[in-house]
Amino acid sequence: MKKLLVSSIAVVSLLGAAFAFNLPPFFSNHQTQLGNIDTAAAVVAAGWADHVDITVDTDLNTFRFRSNGMPSHGFAEKYLIPNDVGSQPFADNTSDEFTVVDSATFFTKTDIDTTISTLPFYSEKTTQTSLGRIGVALSGAQLFNDYEDKAMSVVAMDDNVIHNHVPFVDECNGHTLVDGTNYHYHGIPVCITEAATTVGEHSVMIGVLEDGFPVYANQGQGGVTITNTDLDDCSGHVDVTPEFPTGIYHYHLTADEAPYMIDCYHGAIETSWFGGK
Ligand SMILES: [Zn+2]
Ligand SMILES: [Zn+2]
Repeated sequence: MKKLLVSSIAVVSLLGAAFAFNLPPFFSNHQTQLGNIDTAAAVVAAGWADHVDITVDTDLNTFRFRSNGMPSHGFAEKYLIPNDVGSQPFADNTSDEFTVVDSATFFTKTDIDTTISTLPFYSEKTTQTSLGRIGVALSGAQLFNDYEDKAMSVVAMDDNVIHNHVPFVDECNGHTLVDGTNYHYHGIPVCITEAATTVGEHSVMIGVLEDGFPVYANQGQGGVTITNTDLDDCSGHVDVTPEFPTGIYHYHLTADEAPYMIDCYHGAIETSWFGGK
């Protein structure tokens, strides 16, 4: 018993120290937005595609996202698949360095099953996002970061290439891995936002990052276009959104220049939560 008591005191004081450390004085008004907003109701109410299964665990403060990985919107008929995955920048490569595939037969379902916090915790310490899944989108497909290459130096959106009208990254800003699995976005999933966005209003939540904070397209308050200069190093800020009228830390995908996606988490995240595919 004594041991238990000691360890719970230690946990409490650790948490206290974390709060004191993580919240500089100028953020004190945003204390709740940064740490204690429960996203469960917004997650449940979001416009997930029919083939997405969302279940909330109110005891663990998590939600589980399951889908077959395919986007609910349409996609291109044909895609360019690089013959050598390491030959970035792809934009410099000629058409014979790609294979043209038919998406109808090439695209392959991928079971996505991830559990994400509904009580995200803003951490002063940021964590670089990895290749593979960094979050999930309303369409049932995945959010990846900006990069296609292991060194994370070539931005996929800036390295897009089209030969004979066949794209590497499609008009929804998405594509699959070279094996046809894991359809994912490297920019604003415009095929989601076209249907979900209202002119003159803040973007609606289009997904959730693996650290639990919500993700939006690039419309801020009043529909004003958000650019990277409006955001912190992880492409986020604290503001009110349609789903969180009292404010929350959230990410914006942007369209003007890299980073288009989220290249670091500002929420606490366990390494084991990384997508890794
Ligand atoms: Zn990609
Ligand atoms: Zn915002």
